[in-house]
Amino acid sequence: PPEFAFAGRSNVGKSSLINCLLRRKNLVKVSQRPGRTQQINFFALNNDALRFVDLPGYGFAKVPLAIKAGWKKMIESYLESRPTLKAVVVIVDIRREPSPDDLMLLGWLLSLGLPAVVAVTKADKLSRNQAAQRLAKLRPQLAPYDAAPVVCSAVTGQGRQELWERLLARLAD
Ligand code: GDP
Repeated sequence: PPEFAFAGRSNVGKSSLINCLLRRKNLVKVSQRPGRTQQINFFALNNDALRFVDLPGYGFAKVPLAIKAGWKKMIESYLESRPTLKAVVVIVDIRREPSPDDLMLLGWLLSLGLPAVVAVTKADKLSRNQAAQRLAKLRPQLAPYDAAPVVCSAVTGQGRQELWERLLARLAD
C-alpha cells in the first residue's frame, strides 16, 4: 500500500501530530521522555489501504553519537528503497529554527525526488502575529527544498485538513 512517513527531531511533537491526523488519542504513544522512538513503526489505515510510517526521532542532544549515526542510517536506507512512499512529513517546532538534521533530511528528499511537506507544529504556543513572523522567516529557508510549510497544532487541530489534503494529493502521482 502507499505510505506517508513522518520524521522530526525527538520531542518535536511527531506522535501528537500523527494522533491528531488520525483523530486518535493513543495510536502512536506520545513519549514520556524524548528520544524513545528508536525504530520504524508502521500503522495500517483503512484495512491497510494506506500506511503511516513513524520514523525514529533524531537529533536528541543526550543520545550518544553512535546511536545518532544508527538512526540516520536507518532513515536513509528506508528512504532510498521505497517505491510505495508517496510523501514525507518533516515536522519542525514553530518556535525553533529547523535543525541541521531537518535540513539534511530535506536535502535527501529533494535529491531522491520524494515529495516533502513541512509541518510547522505547536503553533498554539505562539500568538497569531508571532506565528506569522516565524512563517515569514521559514518560507525562504524551506524554498530551496521545495517544501512549503503547513502551520499545525496537535492541540487545536490547526493545519489538520491542509496536511491531509497535501498528502492525499500525492496519491494521484
Ligand atoms: P515526539 O517525541 O516528536 O513524538 O513528540 P510528542 O508527540 O511525544 O510530544 C512531545 C511533547 O510536546 C509532549 O509533551 C506533547 O504534549 C507536546 N506537544 C506535541 N504537540 C504539541 C502541540 O501542537 N502543541 C502543544 N502545546 N504541545 C504539543
